[in-house]
Amino acid sequence: MTLLDALAGGTDTPICSRAGCRERALWRIEWRNPRIHAADRRKTWLACAEHIDYLREFLAAREFPLQVLPLDEVADSAD
Ligand SMILES: [Zn+2]
Repeated sequence: MTLLDALAGGTDTPICSRAGCRERALWRIEWRNPRIHAADRRKTWLACAEHIDYLREFLAAREFPLQVLPLDEVADSAD
């Protein structure tokens, strides 16, 4: 993270994991590479609305087990 990033957004904003993308992440991809990761190991990528398909297909093409979850799992409890 650069100083500019720190000034602009702080560290709380989840950012897309796609290289070069600075969009806010809306999705979380949990995946693992069966060849190098133990069965209980999980990697997490974050994805913006634009790159969720790209990242998911990137992993799917390698036949990595993956799960896509909404990033804001804490549903706003509207009452
Ligand atoms: Zn992105």
